Amino acid sequence: MSIVITNIGELVTNSQADGGGSAPGGLAPAGGAAQRSAGQGFSAIENAALVMEDGSVAWTGPANKAPAADSQVDASGRAVLPGFVDSHAHLVFAGERGAEFAARMAGRPYSAGGIRSTVAATRAASDAELAANLGRLAAELAAQGTTTFECKSGYGLTIADEARSVALAAEVTPEVTYLGAHVVPAEFESDPEGYLDLVTGPMLAACAPHSRWVDVFCEQGAFGADAARAVLAAGQSAGLAGRVHANQLGPGPGVQVAVECGAASADHCTYLSDADVDALAASRTVATLLPGVEFSTRHPYPDARRLLSAGATVAIATDCNPGSCFTTSMPFCIALAVREMRMTTQEAVWAATAGGARALHREDIGHLRVGARADLVLLDAPSHAYLAYRPGVPQVAAVWRDGQLITG
Ligand SMILES: [Zn+2]
Repeated sequence: MSIVITNIGELVTNSQADGGGSAPGGLAPAGGAAQRSAGQGFSAIENAALVMEDGSVAWTGPANKAPAADSQVDASGRAVLPGFVDSHAHLVFAGERGAEFAARMAGRPYSAGGIRSTVAATRAASDAELAANLGRLAAELAAQGTTTFECKSGYGLTIADEARSVALAAEVTPEVTYLGAHVVPAEFESDPEGYLDLVTGPMLAACAPHSRWVDVFCEQGAFGADAARAVLAAGQSAGLAGRVHANQLGPGPGVQVAVECGAASADHCTYLSDADVDALAASRTVATLLPGVEFSTRHPYPDARRLLSAGATVAIATDCNPGSCFTTSMPFCIALAVREMRMTTQEAVWAATAGGARALHREDIGHLRVGARADLVLLDAPSHAYLAYRPGVPQVAAVWRDGQLITG
């Protein structure tokens, strides 16, 4: 069964596997940085067509050269993009914290008890309640064009609650992350070493069968450098590749630990030293920026331009969670990245597609080269730029995942 989408105004392919792309239409990349940093690997074809067959992209090129297919979709001049890849989300939880958000916007300080209130609600919830909330959020992601998402545990913090969190996550995504090292739970307040032993021992053993990744919140008040190294090393010996919550709330060792341990991604990257930027630029560790968090907490945004100019690979993700950022919208995060972090529209779209794929070590998604998984979004707009140009407006007309129409 093959499908051809014809009359595509702009087909974003991200066709250069390793960056080096230039802006579409032959325009020179903005800024004085190297080409890779200006557009990352963004590329697009105008007046294009795409054929998908058996769940993969089979052909892309000019619309007037498109081969025949079993069925045809007329894009009517609209844009087609790779499906968004949300490489950072916390979706297994119960309860909500709308009042805490409202209080924060009214000027009251962020309450450190926030995560713990979600932990209490999550522990008290049934599997069915957690699965229903997870399913609702997964449907929101799909409706907004996200075709792959990562999902972390981290609101259970007991062996049983973390194990069921990763098992529930594995029902909705292959990109499951074990985040027992989210915070030290209240019952271990006087024994953080004991909690670390749990996280790197029996809790890891219970979670590893359902997980692909291990993550640690490396931050003052959470886990320090040595503890983070221990979590990543234990995860790696159980077959899990690493990711790190790094340098979100202040300067710290998170980025250096991530690079040193070969983590796929250092996430947040809000407070970076020159050495941190250099380390990211010289490594395969992706700098994943989460601008929805800064929006929702009124913290300063990370400096995307500094990372891009240095040659680091930048991804954008939602960090969807009930406390610091409760959005599932990659289009919203793209708009923030463009407006608030001064990324070009091309850079931001690349970061939300190919960048996320890079952060998940996935080569089959995030681009629309021949052979890619047929994960794509038809926008109700003529170009990718509309994602930032028309913020807050629903523009996802249709979504295919694995060649199947899931929305539209
Ligand atoms: Zn997070």
